[in-house]
Amino acid sequence: MRQQRQLTDFTGIVMYSKPYRDRDLLVKYLTKEFGKKMFLIRGAKRPKFKMKAAILPFAYGVFSGSVVSDGLSYLNSTKDIKHFKNISADIVKNAYATYIFSLIDLAYQDGNVIPVVYNQVQLGLELIDKGIDAEIISNIFEVQLLAAFGVAPNWRDCVVCHRTDLPFDYSEEYGGLLCQSHWHLDPYRLRLDARTIYYLRLFSEINLTKINDIKVQKPTKQKIRQTLDQIYEHSVGVIPKSKRFLDQLDDLQIE
Ligand SMILES: [Zn+2]
Repeated sequence: MRQQRQLTDFTGIVMYSKPYRDRDLLVKYLTKEFGKKMFLIRGAKRPKFKMKAAILPFAYGVFSGSVVSDGLSYLNSTKDIKHFKNISADIVKNAYATYIFSLIDLAYQDGNVIPVVYNQVQLGLELIDKGIDAEIISNIFEVQLLAAFGVAPNWRDCVVCHRTDLPFDYSEEYGGLLCQSHWHLDPYRLRLDARTIYYLRLFSEINLTKINDIKVQKPTKQKIRQTLDQIYEHSVGVIPKSKRFLDQLDDLQIE
C-alpha cells in the first residue's frame, strides 16, 4: 500500500519519548484523529530546541505536523500546548499516568483511530491532576481496558443464571460474576468480599465525566489491586514495565 502523508493539525497528548540518534527523539503521541503515532523530533535534544513544551511528558493540545499512515510522522509546529502541572511535579501521579499510557500502548495498535479512548485519557489525567486518587483512576482504566485486551468479563450479572440479587463472586474460569447459588461451579473463584465486587462493577461502567471525588478505604484498595493484578496476570498475560515501579511505590507507602 502506498504511504500516505498529510500536513495537518491534530489534537494529542505525549505518551512517552525515547532517545533516537544523537540529537533526536522519538515521541509517541496519542492523537484524537489518528490514534497512536510515533513522531521523529529532529534536534529535540539540542539546548535551543524551539518546541520543548510540545515534547514534555503528557503535554497536550493542538499540534501541527506531517502525519503518515505508517512509519514515522514529523512535528512542524505547535498551536496551543498545555501541561498537567501537578502530574509533572508529583512522582506518584506521574507514575500512574505513565502506567495508564503503557496499558493503552499495549491494548491498541498504532494508527488505530480511538477518539473515545483519547477523551477518556484526557479526562483521566485531568482528574489525577486535580488530586482525585490516581490509583483509583488507574483501576478504572485497568477494568475498562480489559475488553481491548480481549478479556471482557461480565460484571453485570451472574454468568450462569443472570441473577443480580444474590451475593457475587468473581470467576476467572467463567469470565465474570457468579451468584452465590453458582459458586459451587468454580472452586477457584476469587472469594472476593462484597465491597471489592461493588467497586469492580462500578469501575466497569463508571463515566469519568461524572467523577467529582471518589474515596476508597485502604484495605478495599489493596483487594482491588490484588484482584486486578490476578486478572491481568492470568487472563491478559501482559504487564507493562511501568507497573513494577508502581508496585515499588506501593511497598514504600505501606504504613
Ligand atoms: Zn447464578
